[in-house]
Amino acid sequence: MKKITLITGGAGFIGSHLCELFLEKGYKVICVDNLITGKLSNIRHLLKNKNFIFIKHNVSEHINIKGPIHYVLHFASPASPIDYLKYPIQTLKVGSLGTHNALGLAKAKKAKFLLASTSEVYGDPLVNPQPESYWGNVNPIGPRGVYDESKRFAEAITMAYHRVHKIDTKIVRIFNTYGERMREEDGRAIPNFISQALNNNPITVYGNGSQTRSFCYVSDLIDGIYKLALSKANDPINIGNPNEMTLLELAKTIIRLTGSKSKIVFNPLPIDDPKVRRPDIAKAKKILKWRPKVVLETGLLRTIDYFARHCGENRDPKASMSR
Ligand code: NAD
Ligand code: UDP
Repeated sequence: MKKITLITGGAGFIGSHLCELFLEKGYKVICVDNLITGKLSNIRHLLKNKNFIFIKHNVSEHINIKGPIHYVLHFASPASPIDYLKYPIQTLKVGSLGTHNALGLAKAKKAKFLLASTSEVYGDPLVNPQPESYWGNVNPIGPRGVYDESKRFAEAITMAYHRVHKIDTKIVRIFNTYGERMREEDGRAIPNFISQALNNNPITVYGNGSQTRSFCYVSDLIDGIYKLALSKANDPINIGNPNEMTLLELAKTIIRLTGSKSKIVFNPLPIDDPKVRRPDIAKAKKILKWRPKVVLETGLLRTIDYFARHCGENRDPKASMSR
């Protein structure tokens, strides 16, 4: 009998790639998503697969599923800063009530549980790179607090279910990930810069662009998540690409790769925007034998192609892309 994986947030950017990977690996997949920030078009190609089921449901409400489940992967949550600023209460609820429901389901089904946590649990870090042992520097009452604190609570309740109910839980702390199926309007740096560059519109760098991030291509991330799901690890593990760069460098790279005529403009830095971010991936290398393989330019070119093919509808037809 095929093993069954339930993926909350499975119609989102990362979730849809995870649904595909688990189907490829021979699992049945139940995708539960309320489409608040995800899209049915991300999983439409999977709907005819007899091993794939989509259930439209808000996981902050009780999750009722008949039959066995072997893995619960909890990925439901707005993830882009503009999404969680637009949906602050839904974000807090899905990190708290949604995680509680997903853990309850895992407990009832005796399933393994994996939580999608985030580098945002480190806040605006005072330590760089960030190892899992770092407790973070988070403003609980700032605008980003709704996301950071919901994920910190999600980690705490996951560890409590592991300790009290002996559930085999895993926590992945995901660092900035990009790739196909990010929404053009999602507001994160890579989709913004690519769609601005493809339209020859100004590239909006926030602040002076000296803040850093480390960008991981989605296939590397889901490979790490799959290895973590199958591992014996119960403590949090960072998954990300340690190739750290400034946002200004990223903007210039995207202009070069798209051959765009865009100019860079500098807009105000959002409140509590972390100044640096880079994963320490020693633990993932040691425990999961994982390391990222896709270099930034390769991943960016694939993402640019995706945006050029899928997001053309809203684009100025006179805008040209010369690569
Ligand atoms: P996304 O917005 O594309 O996907 C999130 C999905 O969750 C969407 O399909 C959305 O509709 C669904 N969802 C949200 N609330 C829900 C609810 N209450 N009930 C059911 N479905 C709900 O974002 P993403 O980038 O794919 O992020 C997926 C997960 O990974 C999130 O938990 C996020 O916190 C985490 N993460 C992502 C990144 C990244 O760089 N992409 C970094 C750190 C953590
Ligand atoms: N950013 C930017 N211009 C944009 C969007 C984002 O300069 O149009 C910056 C943002 O201020 C942050 C970095 O890019 O410093 C990464 O932002 P993103 O929203 O991608 O994710 P975050 O790491 O903040 O969660």
